[in-house]
Amino acid sequence: MKIYSHENLSLHRPLPYFSYGKMHEPLEIPERMVEMLKAPAALGLEVTNAKEVGMGPILAVHDFGYVEFLKHGYDEWMAVEEDLGDQVQTGIFVPYDNPGLGIMAKAAKYQADDSAPISEHSWISIYWSAQTALNAAEALLNDDSDSSNDTDVQLCFSRPPGHHARKSAAGGFCYLNNAAIIAEHLRQKYAKIAIIDTDMHHGQGIQEIFYDRSDVLYTSVHGDTVNFYPGVTGHEFERGTGEGEGYNVNFPMPHGTDEEGFFEYVDKSIDTIKTFDPDVIVHVLGFDVYKDDPEARCKVSTEGFKILAQKMKALNKPLIVLVEGGYYIQKLNDNLQAFLSGLIEKKS
Ligand SMILES: [Zn+2]
Repeated sequence: MKIYSHENLSLHRPLPYFSYGKMHEPLEIPERMVEMLKAPAALGLEVTNAKEVGMGPILAVHDFGYVEFLKHGYDEWMAVEEDLGDQVQTGIFVPYDNPGLGIMAKAAKYQADDSAPISEHSWISIYWSAQTALNAAEALLNDDSDSSNDTDVQLCFSRPPGHHARKSAAGGFCYLNNAAIIAEHLRQKYAKIAIIDTDMHHGQGIQEIFYDRSDVLYTSVHGDTVNFYPGVTGHEFERGTGEGEGYNVNFPMPHGTDEEGFFEYVDKSIDTIKTFDPDVIVHVLGFDVYKDDPEARCKVSTEGFKILAQKMKALNKPLIVLVEGGYYIQKLNDNLQAFLSGLIEKKS
């Protein structure tokens, strides 16, 4: 197994923000990385420093203007004579096109909600989060061994996370859609990619990007999105369109679902993958399904993450795990250790 990270993933520090009628302390903070990096160290697992792959795979998924906004938005924001605050965030959300005259107009177009502000070092972390994920994809692309027997497992730290990022909009702590970027990148060698998302929230960005395609399956287990983020997608009836019909499979869980219930939905999601029979599996892993997480609407235990890892490994396909959500910092180390122990254990 290989684990990838990069020191730049810790640079992005969002500031407190106003949302749902009150101020919020950011949950997606650099301290998460400090805790999570303790897990491989405790298990004696090596973490490889990610190398730069470049912008090409990012621009294969995201609109150029949007990526330019992420890259230069902070500088443009700070260059405005009036003090607009220390991070790019307007509270103006206009998803349709506008002429983009001024950074405020661009922010209105490219930020989908309150929870993806851009602060001083955000772009560096956003870029390196995608680069880190791409290292795992590159390893598979450059592997000459017979991939049909390849059971290699790779895990990438993915901060900031990506599954809520749309083609041209940031939201839900996400900016670049790391899972979508590597799935698209892997398509140059592999015909069928499956993305399984077990984060607490529905990954509407991944759904949007592959909604009309049959070569990338997206299946997600998440909390019912009625009055729960992202609030507007994640329903069972969203099954894809055109050629993509049937290749988008959502399993919304009723809030309060226990661990047994969670795994019933995960097993259904896994059955969908088995039917699809992909060449590679990308797993979006969120520790926000943990019972004490502030975002949790279900009750997964620490031990549950080991079981989850065993289930993913048992699919016996090349597997890339992206570590995305999870905000109960005190248990991130334990929970990741549990997951890793499920990945590394030898078959009995
Ligand atoms: Zn989440």
